[in-house]
Amino acid sequence: MSVAQPVFRFAPSPNGELHLGHAYSALLNLQMARRCNAKMLLRIEGIDTQRCTAALEKQMLEDLEWIGFEWDEEPIRQSGRFDLYQDALLKIDELGLLYASGMSRSEIKREVTKLESAGTPWPRDPDGSPIYPGKERELRDSPRKPLSKTIGRQIIRLDMAMAKAKINDPLFWNEMASNGNMDVNPEEVKAEPAVWGDVILARRDVPTSYHIACVIDDAAQGVTHVVRGKDLYFATAIHRLLQHLLGLPAPVYFHHELIRNDERQKLSKSDGHTSLRQLRNSGLSPMDVIDRMGLSLL
Ligand code: GLU
Repeated sequence: MSVAQPVFRFAPSPNGELHLGHAYSALLNLQMARRCNAKMLLRIEGIDTQRCTAALEKQMLEDLEWIGFEWDEEPIRQSGRFDLYQDALLKIDELGLLYASGMSRSEIKREVTKLESAGTPWPRDPDGSPIYPGKERELRDSPRKPLSKTIGRQIIRLDMAMAKAKINDPLFWNEMASNGNMDVNPEEVKAEPAVWGDVILARRDVPTSYHIACVIDDAAQGVTHVVRGKDLYFATAIHRLLQHLLGLPAPVYFHHELIRNDERQKLSKSDGHTSLRQLRNSGLSPMDVIDRMGLSLL
């Protein structure tokens, strides 16, 4: 019996300059992929067509080549795949699990401040934002109106309580051993999507979300191993839920350590001094960059 070739992907967003953290993630993916004779894919996650520019994408590709990242097929661009994401949203809508929500981030903040000053502590999601206070969910139509005309005009949220009720058994994902060792059996992690509340699945200005685009493309590209930073560990619960609702296969995950700056903060794209371009312009070689990452790549 022939065993299917594993597939890895590195999926950066060209909405700023790549930094050392991206270099680490890309090269770790490549190393793990090469070790098991897997295909290495590059996916350009540019759903935010305002912030993701052609110039940033060009720079991103040059920076990736400079550090020695290689990919095996023509990259796919999420900016050209909105129809597929819309189909997925409509499928979830058919299950009656979506609703349109007009409340802005500042209105949510105001609402939550009001609740908290009246003595009701309000839960935060794993990224530290207050979970959606649910006012509009309570005002929902019954039965809900189809949202086909609303996607891309209003914020679309998943009714988390209803989605959970649709699933009888608990959901799990497989997480590779903490050193990324592929010879060790992955650990089963229980997915707890409810900690995110009624998560946003499409924005007003972007007719999809990272979560929808990510699970659709991981499945479409036959991705078997998702290697990405620990900052996305808890988001994996949302991805498992969406995979379940959409009938998509689940890859194995490895959430690697994040590279931090001297203040122990996670690097950000606005952190100019760690951008790959800056390092390259200062005369460093890709090997110097790898040393700087303290990258004993496994
Ligand atoms: N596009 C995401 C980022 O640049 C990565 C998403 C993923 O690997 O699932 O942070």
